[in-house]
Amino acid sequence: MLNLATPLAQLKNVPPRFLKKLENLGLKTIRDLLWHFPTRYEDFSQTYLIGDLQPNQQATIRGLVRDIDVKRTWKRKMFIAEAEIEDASGTIRAVWFNQPYVKNVLKPGTLANFAGKVSVTDGELYLSNPAYEIVSKFKETRHTGRLVPVYPETRGLTSRGLRFLVKEMLIAAPSAPEILPDEVLAEFNFPEVNEALRAIHFPEKLEDAEAAKKRFAFEDLFVLQLFNLEQKAKLAECAAPPLACTPEELGVTLKLMPFPLTGAQERCLAEILEDLAKPNPMNRLLQGDVGSGKTVVAAIAALVAAHNGYQTAFMAPTEVLARQHYETLKKLFSPLEQRVNLGYLAAGGAKLFLKDDLEAELKKPGFKKAVQAGRTNIVIGTHALIQKNVAFKNLGLVIVDEQHRFGVRARAALLRSRREDNVIPHFLSMSATPIPRTLTLALFGDLELSIVDEMPKGRRLIITKVVAPENRAKAYAFIRGEIKKGRQIFVICPRINPAEESQSGKPVMDMRELLWRDVKTVKEEYERLSKKIFPDMRVAMLHGKMPSKEKVRVMSAFQGREYDILVSTSVIEVGVDIQNATVMVIEGADRFGLAQLYQLRGRVGRGTHQSYCLLFSDSGTKTSAERLAAIVAAKNGFELAEKDLALRGPGEFMGTSQTGMPDIAMRALKNINLLKDARRAAERIIGNNPGTLKKYPALLSRVNSLRKEIHLE
Ligand code: ADP
Ligand code: MG
Repeated sequence: MLNLATPLAQLKNVPPRFLKKLENLGLKTIRDLLWHFPTRYEDFSQTYLIGDLQPNQQATIRGLVRDIDVKRTWKRKMFIAEAEIEDASGTIRAVWFNQPYVKNVLKPGTLANFAGKVSVTDGELYLSNPAYEIVSKFKETRHTGRLVPVYPETRGLTSRGLRFLVKEMLIAAPSAPEILPDEVLAEFNFPEVNEALRAIHFPEKLEDAEAAKKRFAFEDLFVLQLFNLEQKAKLAECAAPPLACTPEELGVTLKLMPFPLTGAQERCLAEILEDLAKPNPMNRLLQGDVGSGKTVVAAIAALVAAHNGYQTAFMAPTEVLARQHYETLKKLFSPLEQRVNLGYLAAGGAKLFLKDDLEAELKKPGFKKAVQAGRTNIVIGTHALIQKNVAFKNLGLVIVDEQHRFGVRARAALLRSRREDNVIPHFLSMSATPIPRTLTLALFGDLELSIVDEMPKGRRLIITKVVAPENRAKAYAFIRGEIKKGRQIFVICPRINPAEESQSGKPVMDMRELLWRDVKTVKEEYERLSKKIFPDMRVAMLHGKMPSKEKVRVMSAFQGREYDILVSTSVIEVGVDIQNATVMVIEGADRFGLAQLYQLRGRVGRGTHQSYCLLFSDSGTKTSAERLAAIVAAKNGFELAEKDLALRGPGEFMGTSQTGMPDIAMRALKNINLLKDARRAAERIIGNNPGTLKKYPALLSRVNSLRKEIHLE
């Protein structure tokens, strides 16, 4: 029997050559395909008479193919198919590039719809690359004569192919179960799920598509909220080891730190320590701008756990960051009298640092044994720490740095790991993603929040400038000067590879594709800077596609001042702390959201030297100036977030690149009211009693699959 989970590979009506391409789009099951929503619609709903067509209009015509022929151009070796189409009002030429097979489909005498742009050369109208569809009274049209869905595509599988598959599936697939309770459907006047699926793919009117989209967005948020509430209720049933610390002990420790804490750090630390001392598990998010000093706060929390005889797992999203935390903690703790044993688990091997200046490289099994025996107080590593079954003797605290998505998962894993006595470790996650407080609470409603909203003293303002293209040479001269002074430079580019050919294979590209083309890329920029601009300097490159060992090597070499310039993508190593770097160059600054620009800039200005941020952008100087003004005026990222959210809505603020937020959350940012509605509806359904969910089996199964996704990913 077919159901939504049936793999597409098992269906006869999905051509095998499409399977790989569907997989490229992440589509494996019937459900995946049905939930592959269009990004927009083309309006071919108006059918015109050929005689009424006007230049440059988007239109559908219905006519008879009178004649069709395929030629091959000499110079460009391109196939051109040309047809003559006729209706009662006249004839028009249609031209297709590199689609010789249309000749086999549109035989003379065929009645078909043609939809596309009406072009004109030498005063003669013609249709260029029109979508076509043979008209039959048995079949509804998919590509012409209606609102036509445009999907995220992949090479070799265009919207046309997807339309074909989705349409078949809408007819053939069993109906989808409705997960939204009747009262919720009624309250928000949402369409029922199967109706919504039809409307989102093949809407009669645009409003129907919008209503369907809203329903599906709500659905995701609703499930997330139910999950959060459920977690919260479960957490309330759990116990945790109370980890106490007297003010005297704390005072002694703080005196030994290399700097006095800021007021904000002290406040956040106090909130955390208060939680830790309780017999219930802490579940707290420590938010603060890049450079606000979250690490030391977390380190002291780990220290308190160690003094109470409990271990801490300290996790970072990348090896580079984990390594950095290891080194930082080693330094922070070196003046302490008590013995604190640190461990660092990397993909390749592991390290153990014992207080009496012993640092041992270990094979993993030996390392795991040390952790299991409780000889290691604080274990630092990547996600592998909880995934690769490192067993702790008595884990009291889990710290997760810089990743929401992972944080949620780690927390869930902890809940799952609870023993019979219901005791689980305390949990602290840290993030520099500046999300407004209101939104954080709505998205991660089960978390308490501490915000480090003050920078350490002595930080100089980072001088920020938008550099006009004609001043590029001047900027390079300035950079040269900084390097001569012994400083280091970051150059951030938006993408790794030169922009690919147009995805759809059509000769005409849209503006966005064109824009991507001239965006600087890491590889090109690296070549250019190292060979042409700074051949006498030491330039390195870093991007996400490099093997992780190589990344670590480059990063530590940069940290060790073996390079002057590091060319890198924006998404990696969010929290990297390199005090000697004074210039942040951002290429294609318009590509980034304000939040991201703000965070990137925060990677410099961490030491005592005056630092600079140079924003290169090839477009819209007025908007650039506005964006820049917003960044310069903001006292911290969270304030900027709040302001920007109010002014321009969340889309602009977050930008298009990855933020470490779950996709769901990203979508939620677009519609805060919907998020609030979802939260209220979820509260009404389960309140404090997750058991209520059993009354809604379809819903329960969705919450469970979200849970699985979070656990396994
Ligand atoms: P983030 O919040 O981005 O994780 P870090 O913890 O990496 O920030 O701290 C950034 C830098 O600021 C580090 O070099 C750290 O040693 C330094 N730092 C942290 N707190 C203080 C403070 N109170 N006074 C001076 N420097 C501090
Ligand atoms: Mg950090």
